[in-house]
Amino acid sequence: MIAIIKSSCTPEQLQHFVRWIEGRGFSTNVSRGDNETIVGIIGDTTQIDPFLLESMDIIERVQRVSEPFKKANRKFHPEDTIVDCGHGVLVGGGHFQVMAGPCSVEGKNLIQIARAVKEAGATMLRGGAFKPRTSPYAYQGMGEKGLDLLLEASAELDMPIVTEVMDVRDVALFVDKGIDVMQIGARNAQNFNLLKEVGKTNIPVLLKRGLSGTIDELLMAAEYIMSEGNEKVMLCERGIRTFETRTRNTFDVNAIPVLHYLTHLPVIADPSHATGYTRYVRSIAYAATAAGADGLEIEVHNCPSEAWSDGAQALTPAQFDDAMRRIALIREAITAEVA
Ligand code: PEP
Ligand code: MN
Repeated sequence: MIAIIKSSCTPEQLQHFVRWIEGRGFSTNVSRGDNETIVGIIGDTTQIDPFLLESMDIIERVQRVSEPFKKANRKFHPEDTIVDCGHGVLVGGGHFQVMAGPCSVEGKNLIQIARAVKEAGATMLRGGAFKPRTSPYAYQGMGEKGLDLLLEASAELDMPIVTEVMDVRDVALFVDKGIDVMQIGARNAQNFNLLKEVGKTNIPVLLKRGLSGTIDELLMAAEYIMSEGNEKVMLCERGIRTFETRTRNTFDVNAIPVLHYLTHLPVIADPSHATGYTRYVRSIAYAATAAGADGLEIEVHNCPSEAWSDGAQALTPAQFDDAMRRIALIREAITAEVA
């Protein structure tokens, strides 16, 4: 349930109202926008009489929110959330960023790739140190050493890093090391204990859509993180499993405007895992940009044929540079004022 507050309401009156609601066992989410203030009421609101609230001087109107996701819901927070990823990099609400780098951190080539993607215009560096691999015999990542390499690159290039946390037991390590953005991978999109653990931190989270996850399941996963207090969540469409076998996954371009409609959280698109083949990655990056994504996550490798994971979908630095120029043109086109 949301209560839309009259513009004449003073901060003291608002605080009094919030305390009154919380005193009845509900939790609240106050969103102060430029145009209106909304108090989201979370809990079993069937016990609240909306007419009682509407009779209060400070309440403009009351609306029930039927969706099970509350904190992630745009009705609770009409304005776009802007996530501060550190190093001056903001995502959402008109701030568009590209995160690029190898699938896995492999060693010395990381800094070489990082310099190249930065040169091409990427503002965040991605790379997996802990890798969720379908086979236990496949490369599992460098672990902590990989995080250190990412941090070294981040310090040299002054750019935030995005890297996957797979295990509840590793979250403290990511916090201690000062990782800028924790990625929750598609395979962990419903690992509720992990979602709750990252929710207890203050570190931005890039939350990927599950392999066969619906949009609502993605939003409920975000709700798990936010319900623990961490509201710095970015959602990522990375393709879903369908009957199609010509591509690794099927990119759901619909998810971008649908998510923007349903939630205030930034929406990132990952055309690399969505397609699985280098030859398709750029087209889908352009489609996602045109559809209004707040950012892209793209795998880039200095020598894709030698990559330790996902070489088949990696762009070379030259291909990435070309893509970035076209992405900038698409951004210009879709953000231009048209008379
Ligand atoms: C990745 O980003 O390298 C990754 C494993 O992605 P996903 O979880 O989307 O498969
Ligand atoms: Mn990958």
